Amino acid sequence: MSASATRNVIIIGSGPAGYTAAVYAARANLHPLVFEGSVTAGGALMNTTEVENFPGFRDGIMGPALMDEMRAQAERFGAELVPDDVVEVDLTGDVKVVRTATDTHTAHAVILATGSGYRKLGLPREEELSGRGVSWCATCDGFFFRDQHIAVVGGGDSAVEEATFLTRFGSKVSLIVRRDELRASAIMRERAFADPKLEIVWNAEVEEINGADRLESLTLKDTVTGETRRLDATGLFIAIGHDPRSELLQGQVDLDDNGYVVVTHPSTGTNLPGVFACGDLVDHHYRQAITAAGTGCAAALDAERFLAELE
Ligand code: FAD
Repeated sequence: MSASATRNVIIIGSGPAGYTAAVYAARANLHPLVFEGSVTAGGALMNTTEVENFPGFRDGIMGPALMDEMRAQAERFGAELVPDDVVEVDLTGDVKVVRTATDTHTAHAVILATGSGYRKLGLPREEELSGRGVSWCATCDGFFFRDQHIAVVGGGDSAVEEATFLTRFGSKVSLIVRRDELRASAIMRERAFADPKLEIVWNAEVEEINGADRLESLTLKDTVTGETRRLDATGLFIAIGHDPRSELLQGQVDLDDNGYVVVTHPSTGTNLPGVFACGDLVDHHYRQAITAAGTGCAAALDAERFLAELE
């Protein structure tokens, strides 16, 4: 275990929010230290293909390429990027303490940008068959399901995007929707309805995930009649939403009932002086790369002003 000099600012998280905060903090000569996470550095857009709605890219850009650009931009201005997980924080004092598995770091200000994670169905075989037919990432795993029957669970934008993407690989894609309508935006709905390889199974939920070593089938339950039936899908992509990654912050900053960090809008300040939060960790409503980047910018400016007042 080693300790280093107290920093101006530590940023935890490496999605659009964290990297944008890093660009702004670095350009303000705050020499930020950024913890990117050990597995998912780059954040949620590492799991998608084309991003068509991030301003500045008229022809669109692949998600991982966009994140590589943000990362390089942060590094160019002197942000120090560390591909480690933060495992513990103490943010309550004037000097904030941030720990990884091997090191302890301190800073006068901390920006929280840990995003949100995929939600699970909570079914018995779900974890065991993860990577053996069950997935949360079509971009990562779609290739493995060539010419197979794939099921996708969910009715929002993510589910429809995943299902539409998976029709490139699967012989057929069944989108399992609990209700008799999709929550997805109009453009996504139109794409889904127009896709000949995409079947929508209305009023249905997954009751059982079946298979010994690999996913072999699903048991679906009709949410209206209660009847069950078997769907011979060998791939299952779960796209039912996200939860904020705020476990680390329990007992530190104020969280709302759903675990999102509470900030004093329009600033990014939390209930603790010197602690700022941004991106999907805070955002219930927009959940977009550009809004995450926007609040990342705001968090860096808020931290900069806070540090200036300390001097
Ligand atoms: P994230 O991108 O989730 O990044 C947070 C990152 O912080 C984590 O991934 C991890 O690397 C790091 N981290 C977490 N915990 C720790 C820890 N303890 N220590 C260190 N690091 C940690 N938005 C759009 O605008 N356009 C799109 O086309 C689009 N497509 C999408 C497609 C998919 C499949 C998904 C899932 C999302 C899509 N989004 C899109 C939404 C967008 O990706 C998110 O809104 C955005 O990435 C949120 O950014 P963030 O920085 O808040 O969090």
